[in-house]
Amino acid sequence: MAFLPFNITQKKKINVIIVGGGYAGLAALTNLLQFAPDTSVTLIDPNEHHLKITHLHETFRYPLADLLVPFADICKRFECRFIQAAVALDQENLATYQNSKQLTVNGEVLDFDYLIVATGCNNNDSENESSDEILHLSDFTQSSGAELMTRLLAQNDSTSEQIISVIGGGATGIQFLFEIHQFLNRIKHKAKLRLIHSAAHVLNQFPDGFATYTENRMRELDIAFVSNTYFRKQQAGKILLSEKATEKPFELPSNLALLFLGKKQQNIFTANAFGQIIVNKLSLPNIFTAGDCSYYHSLGSNSFSAQSAVRKGKLVARNILRHAGFPGLLEPYLHQDLGYIVNLGASDAVGWLAAEGNLVTGISALTVKEIVETQYDLLLAGIDTYLV
Ligand SMILES: Cc1cc2nc3c(=O)[nH]c(=O)nc-3n(C[C@H](O)[C@H](O)[C@H](O)COP(=O)(O)OP(=O)(O)OC[C@H]3O[C@@H](n4cnc5c(N)ncnc54)[C@H](O)[C@@H]3O)c2cc1C
Repeated sequence: MAFLPFNITQKKKINVIIVGGGYAGLAALTNLLQFAPDTSVTLIDPNEHHLKITHLHETFRYPLADLLVPFADICKRFECRFIQAAVALDQENLATYQNSKQLTVNGEVLDFDYLIVATGCNNNDSENESSDEILHLSDFTQSSGAELMTRLLAQNDSTSEQIISVIGGGATGIQFLFEIHQFLNRIKHKAKLRLIHSAAHVLNQFPDGFATYTENRMRELDIAFVSNTYFRKQQAGKILLSEKATEKPFELPSNLALLFLGKKQQNIFTANAFGQIIVNKLSLPNIFTAGDCSYYHSLGSNSFSAQSAVRKGKLVARNILRHAGFPGLLEPYLHQDLGYIVNLGASDAVGWLAAEGNLVTGISALTVKEIVETQYDLLLAGIDTYLV
C-alpha cells in the first residue's frame, strides 16, 4: 500500500512535531522530508544524541561515541529544528493537544498540524538502584561496557575468584553475556560468568532452535546457567534469588549483577491501524504514534524491535502526508517481522530469516544483521533502501 498517493496540496506547508528521536522518530522524519521536502519538522528529545541502541552490547569492543549521532547534525542535514526537552505526554493532555494543535515546550508554544509520539519504552530496571554491584541497561548508555566493567572489576577484591551474574536471557541479556565473555578473555580476566533467567530456556520468545544453539555455545564457553529463577537482590558479594515454582529464596556468591529485565509495558499508546492515537475509544486525527511506545490495532507486528519501529515511523510519515492531502485515504499497518538476529559475540549469531522456522547461525546470520544495520545508517544519511 506504500503506493497509495499522497496528493499533498502545494499551497500548504505542513508543520509536524516529532517527540522522540529514536528509530521510529527518525524514520518518520526522514520519510516526511523525502516525500515532502517543504514540511516544517521540529524534533524534540531530552538527549543531545540519537543512540544507535541496537549496537549497545558492542561497546565492549568499540567506543560508545561510535553509536551517538548528534541531533544537531541530523537536523542540519535534513533542515529541521531540534529542541532538547522531555515532553510529558499522557492520554488526557493528548486530547487537549488535538483540540489546540499546540504544544508548550521549554516555555515556548509550538503550533502543529500533526504530532508524532515516538518516545520508546522504558526498561524494566527493577527497584534495585545501580551501585558498585549492580548495573542496568541504562548505565551502558552513559559509559561503554569496557569502561564500566574495567572499573567495577578493579574495585572488587582481586584475591578471590570474581563471579559476574547476568540477569535476563532475552535477546539483550544474551547479546551482553557473550560480549562480556569475550571482553574478559581479551583482558585475560578470570572472572566466572553466570546467566540467571526466569524461564527454562534462554531466548524463549523465539523458535526452539535459538535456545538449543545458544545454550550449547554457553556450555562450550563454561558459562553457568541458572534457569526458572527470579532475581531479588545483589549485595555484599551475594546474589539473592528465588525459585520460580516454589518462590523459595536462595543465595549464590556474586560480585556483580547486570540486569537486563526487558521492557516495561507502561506509557504505551494504543493506535488505530493507521497509527493515529486512540483516546477514550476515539482516534485523534492529527496525533500519531510509532515505535516501542505504540500498540496498533492492526494485522501488523507490534514487536518491540527497531524493525517495527522503523516501519511504523515510515508509515506514519506517509499517512500524515495522505491525511493532509486529498482524498485523505490512509494506509493500514501490515508489516510482518522479516527476521531477528541475536549476536553471540563478535563472530557468531543466531536468528531467523523470512520464516520463523528458517534458522540462520554464524557468519550468514552476522551478514544479515550487518545488512540491516547498514540499511538504517543509509536512512539516517537520507537514502531510503527499505523495500518493505
Ligand atoms: C542492546 C539492544 C539490542 C537491540 N537489538 C535489536 C536488533 O538487533 N534488532 C531490532 O529490531 N531491535 C533491537 N533492539 C530493540 C530496538 O532497539 C528498539 O525496539 C528500538 O530502539 C525502538 O525504537 P523507538 O524509536 O520506539 O524507541 P527508542 O529507540 O528507545 O527511542 C526513543 C527516543 O525517545 C526519546 N524520549 C523518551 N522519552 C521522551 C520524552 N518524554 N520526550 C521526548 N523524547 C523522549 C528518547 O530519548 C529516545 O531518543 C535492541 C535493543 C537493545 C537495548
